[in-house]
Amino acid sequence: MMKTRTEAIRAAARRLLEAGKVDAVIGYMQGTIPLRAQPFIAYTPEDCDKLIWSSFCGGNLATIASGRKDRVAVVAQGCVSRNLNGLVHEKRIDRDNLYIIGVPCIGMLDQRKVEAKLMGRNIELLKNDPEEDLGEITVSGCNAVRECFVEVIKRRDVKRDNCYTCMHRNPVGADEVVTEPVSETAGGDINAVATPWARFETDRRWEEFTKNFEDCIRCYACRDVCPLCYCTTCFVDESNPQWCGKTQDPADVQTFHILRAFHCAGRCTDCGACESACPQGIKMRRLTSMLEKDVRAKWNHEPGMDCETKPPLSTYRPDDPEDHFK
Ligand code: SF4
Ligand code: SF4
Ligand code: SF4
Repeated sequence: MMKTRTEAIRAAARRLLEAGKVDAVIGYMQGTIPLRAQPFIAYTPEDCDKLIWSSFCGGNLATIASGRKDRVAVVAQGCVSRNLNGLVHEKRIDRDNLYIIGVPCIGMLDQRKVEAKLMGRNIELLKNDPEEDLGEITVSGCNAVRECFVEVIKRRDVKRDNCYTCMHRNPVGADEVVTEPVSETAGGDINAVATPWARFETDRRWEEFTKNFEDCIRCYACRDVCPLCYCTTCFVDESNPQWCGKTQDPADVQTFHILRAFHCAGRCTDCGACESACPQGIKMRRLTSMLEKDVRAKWNHEPGMDCETKPPLSTYRPDDPEDHFK
C-alpha cells in the first residue's frame, strides 16, 4: 500500500538523520489545537515520529531554513521549494547544505473558513484529512452544555485563497519527492487575484486599497513569516533615517505595505503565509499579486523556478521595457 505523506516524510527524515546526511530536518508537527500545524525541527531519528503532513501546514518553512549554517533537510511543497530556490540564489542558504524533501501538494485549508462554516462552534477533533484533492474533512466538537456535532466539509469549499490559483503544486528542484506528483495547478486563474482593483480607475483603486488596509495594527506578522523579509533591520524599524513613521496613521500603514510589496516583487511565490498569519484578516496578496502579475507579463518571470535566475527587479538589461518606470 502507498505510504501517506506523513509516513513518507518520517521515513525520509529518519533515513537522512541516521545516515548523517543532515544535522536537522525542518518540518511540521501537530499544533496544540485542531486545524493547526506548527514548525518542528527534528535532530534525531526518534524526533521524526513527531513530523506530520496535513492540510494545515500553511506556514512557510523556508523562513526557518533561511540563514542557517548547518546541513538541513526541509519539507517543502511547491511554493516553499520555490522560496528555498530563491534563498539559495540570494545566498541566504548554501545549496550544498540543503536537502529538499519535496511534497506534492493538494493545497492547504483555511481554518478561518472552516470555523466560519461552523458558526462559532468549538472544534475539538479533525477526523480525516484526505490525501486527494476532492476529499472531505470531518470535524466534531461539543459546546459548554455538551451539545455535540459532527460536520463533513468539502475541501474545495474551505481552501486557502492562494491555493485555488497555485500554478506549481509539485516541488521544484527537490532532492527527493515523497509521493506521486499531483496535477500542477488547481485550475484557478492566478491573474484573476489582482483583478478586484485592476478594473478600477485610479481614485476608486486608491479608495479600495485604503479600505483593504485600514484595520492593519502593524503587528508585522505578515513580514515575520515571509521568507523574503530577512533584512537585519527592516526599513520600518530604522530610525536614522526614518523611512516610515511608526504610527497607525493611514499614511504610515500604507507606506509599510507598499514598500514591503515592492521588496517582494519578482520574488513572491504566493505561498499565502502572510495572509494566514494576519490577525486582522487583511488581504495583502491583492497587492503582491498585482505586482507578480506585472512581473510575469513584462519579464515572463516566475520566482524560484531555479536557483540561478535573477529576479527582474534586481537586474538590469539595456533592452528592459522601461515604460513602467515613467
Ligand atoms: S500555494 Fe500551491 S504549493 Fe503552496 S500550499 Fe498552496 S497549493 Fe500547495
Ligand atoms: S499581519 Fe496584518 S495586521 Fe499585522 S502588519 Fe501585517 S497586515 Fe497589518
Ligand atoms: S509576500 Fe506573502 S505570499 Fe509572498 S512569499 Fe511572502 S509570505 Fe509568501
